[in-house]
Amino acid sequence: MAEPEFQQAYHEIVASLEESTLFEQKPEYRKVLPVVSVPERIIQFRVTWEDDEGVQQVAPGYRVQYNSAKGPYKGGLRFHPSVNLSILKFLGFEQIFKNALTGLDMGGAKGGLCVDLKTKSEAEIRRICYAFMRELSNHIGADTDVPAGDIGVGGREIGYLFGAYRAYRNTWEGVLTGKGLNWGGSLIRPEATGYGCVYFTQAMIDYATSGRESFAGKRVAISGAGNVAQFAALKAIELGAVVVSLSDSRGCIIAEDGITSEHVAAIAEAKIKFQSLSQIVESYSAFAENKVKYIDGARPWLHAGKVDIALPCATQNEVSGDEAKGLIAAGVKFVAEGSNMGCTTEALHAFETAREVAKSPAEAVWYAVGKAANCGGVACSGLEMAQNSQRARWTRDDVDRELKNIMVNCFNDCVKAAEEYSSEENKNTLPSIVKGANIAGFIKVADA
Ligand code: GLU
Repeated sequence: MAEPEFQQAYHEIVASLEESTLFEQKPEYRKVLPVVSVPERIIQFRVTWEDDEGVQQVAPGYRVQYNSAKGPYKGGLRFHPSVNLSILKFLGFEQIFKNALTGLDMGGAKGGLCVDLKTKSEAEIRRICYAFMRELSNHIGADTDVPAGDIGVGGREIGYLFGAYRAYRNTWEGVLTGKGLNWGGSLIRPEATGYGCVYFTQAMIDYATSGRESFAGKRVAISGAGNVAQFAALKAIELGAVVVSLSDSRGCIIAEDGITSEHVAAIAEAKIKFQSLSQIVESYSAFAENKVKYIDGARPWLHAGKVDIALPCATQNEVSGDEAKGLIAAGVKFVAEGSNMGCTTEALHAFETAREVAKSPAEAVWYAVGKAANCGGVACSGLEMAQNSQRARWTRDDVDRELKNIMVNCFNDCVKAAEEYSSEENKNTLPSIVKGANIAGFIKVADA
């Protein structure tokens, strides 16, 4: 079976490892590669529910329990019409190394359902979540496998899934993360992926400018309009940046003078009702007042004007090679993926080449793959699991401080691994955060 997304994710890691000196320095690590590339278990199941007309519907559901060397399987559930085994294998594979990069003890997994929730009523969404959990509940548990959200699965869906788990298993346990605050959730979990991506980028800025620069005054292009993009935008705005774009699957908005936190709040409220950005821009006068323009059918990268920082926060392969070159020409210096594998292989090469040829850190493009830059979401899930086990509740400051530490440590681990295992010909180039992330994540899993 052709698995293009999985092959892409696999080859990215293998290329980083093969181009490093890791296997030369420690040949025993090579043996881990074929083992870690095969999922420990794939569960595929039938999900059936009745729609509002009383007609039975069916869709395939999955959970890929990829690797449990470091702890219980952990990773999100994606409910989207594009879901298939290749996509879930790529996401599960990435999740193994991402989770390791958080420094917490979690294995890697991913699951999902091939369904379009945008066309479903609230009651249908509830029945779909119950039907999905009817089977999944047999395979998960607080110490076995702890799913969370991903594209299409937010707080509402986690609520239905958690209610279903309690109903089917008669147990209250921290079996899902991303729960509501008054039933076992953690403060900062909704914000964590977006905030974490910004904290990781801040660590790159600190490193590249020896602490002289920050987000303040920088122009930031963001794609996506969901949970990750919203909180990345809010944190960037809080730090004084000008957020010049957001997008959804149908088009993008460009705001020369910057998107405001009021715009983001309007988007958050409307997105839960599945409204598109074009509808949102039309119905809220605040967008017209701030001269926000909507471009139909476009991604933001070639339309955002001068860009210092790009944060792809929508989905996989959302930056093409040409768009990456366009961003470099527009002045981009920092790129961090809030999405998983947001860049195509061609885009990755364009950013990496811009770093390799740079003569100084200030000239380079600093590019971080999702498994490092967006590990804040699952890291905070790990903190939610810890709170559930302790039957404790940490403050907002506690969780935010911990999240920041995790992102800075993750960045430092990436730099250290890139330097330690860099090949002779790369000794004089600046450290690759891509290679560093892949090597550091792999070593942590291999050691386990
Ligand atoms: N879906 C998110 C990710 O890609 C979060 C997973 C989790 O919290 O388990 O990392």
